[in-house]
Amino acid sequence: MIKLKKPKIVILGAGYGGLLTTVRLQKHLGVNEADIVLVNKNSYHYETTWLHEASAGTLHHDKVRYNIENVIDRNKVDFIQGSVVEINKDEKKVILENGEITYDYLVIALGGEPETFGIKGLKEYAFGITNVNSSRQLREHIEYQFATYNMEEEKDDTRLAIVVGGAGFTGIEFLGELTNRVPELCREYDIDASKVRIICVEAAPTALPGFDPELVNYAVSQLERRGVEFLIGTAIKEATPTGILVAKGDEEPREIKAGTVVWAAGVRGNSIIEKSGFEAMRGRVKVQPDLRMPGFDNVFVIGDCSLIINEEINRPYPPTAQIAMQQGEVVAHNLAALIRNKPQLETFKFDNKGTVCSLGEDDAIGVVFGKKLTGTKASFMKKVVDNRALYMIGGASLVMKKGKFNFI
Ligand code: FAD
Ligand code: NAD
Repeated sequence: MIKLKKPKIVILGAGYGGLLTTVRLQKHLGVNEADIVLVNKNSYHYETTWLHEASAGTLHHDKVRYNIENVIDRNKVDFIQGSVVEINKDEKKVILENGEITYDYLVIALGGEPETFGIKGLKEYAFGITNVNSSRQLREHIEYQFATYNMEEEKDDTRLAIVVGGAGFTGIEFLGELTNRVPELCREYDIDASKVRIICVEAAPTALPGFDPELVNYAVSQLERRGVEFLIGTAIKEATPTGILVAKGDEEPREIKAGTVVWAAGVRGNSIIEKSGFEAMRGRVKVQPDLRMPGFDNVFVIGDCSLIINEEINRPYPPTAQIAMQQGEVVAHNLAALIRNKPQLETFKFDNKGTVCSLGEDDAIGVVFGKKLTGTKASFMKKVVDNRALYMIGGASLVMKKGKFNFI
């Protein structure tokens, strides 16, 4: 009997999009239908949406990650821990740091990277909230500044200043955690809290541009009440070894000295997309409605590496975990259809369930199913959303292990 070669599906990235695709595929497909290979840089998945907590130090980084092998079916999925360097689309090959893999079908779900818009000094002097390593480094750096302050004979108060670039959702969520963490740090390191400055610099005329103005006002006033200084309509022009240069409009840039500068002012798709010669806008591929890359019927792109236009406003949807997971469902369905030679592929349509933005431990703002929420109710919803993501990938057992139950 002739044994037919099984098609090989390679999924790059075990974030929200890649991991959801994998767990759905292992459910849809039988062992004999396809070889499924999942490639990820680390042996663990991290909850990107919780990284602001690990970065501020309000949640230990081990709480935001879990082993990939605990949620995949090893009879159906081969997991390869490796860093993707490039994709060779003509030879259907993925080049890793430690080898290469061929594919019949490819899912690119490599997530995003900070977008620095070429601003001088950011790469060298600013911290990012991007992955477990960057979050751990940022948390440790802030602690180091507090610990060092008291060691110095001549006190330099700017060591205790923390600048957050960008009042988008990442910036605002990180500020919420910082306002919880700083009082703890002051107690821990015997520092007078009035010496600490937390400054948020936002280029747009408002924080959280495009979000509900009433909720934005609530968030800004809550954070101001906890000591955050907002510089709105002010852009970061440069990062230096001692702080940042900022300017309003065409004004001459002025310096703000700070021991910690965090860049939370934008994301782009993974640079591997451009390196591999795919057509993209800031590392994001404008995908077809079935989530395939134009011109490549065997390549799907999802999550922060993909770009989908919201037809209602003719602008791209902002990259979110919510979209990445919904795309994962569709890609798993479409791959199963292709493998079974069913020509009809599903079209992706974003089902917006809302947005919740945390403001720290027990405060948040959000619009959920069209309803506005603030305070503890919104914070409760945020934890429900966080637990839901765990449930969708690893079921109830993962929620029990990693879930957030500090509801009150
Ligand atoms: P990711 O989930 O980032 O996963 C990418 C994976 O690829 C990672 O496992 C990474 O290790 C791996 N990888 C990267 N490069 C390589 C390589 N070269 N080789 C191998 N593996 C690689 N969205 C929401 O919907 N709700 C929220 O509340 C929310 N909160 C957020 C809070 C913060 C602080 C941040 C930063 C983002 C937040 N987002 C939120 C956005 C959301 O996290 C992203 O849109 C989402 O993670 C994108 O999913 P993804 O699958 O594309 O990538
Ligand atoms: P973003 O692009 O949404 O916001 C970046 C902010 O930085 C913008 O307000 C922009 O005006 C500002 N900015 C840009 N250049 C600047 C400069 N030079 N100086 C000062 N400010 C500048 O980026 P983000 O907040 O990192 O979010 C990335 C994605 O993740 C978004 O799609 C967002 O919706 C998603 N996200 C969602 C949540 C949530 O739902 N709770 C939380 C975090 C992130």
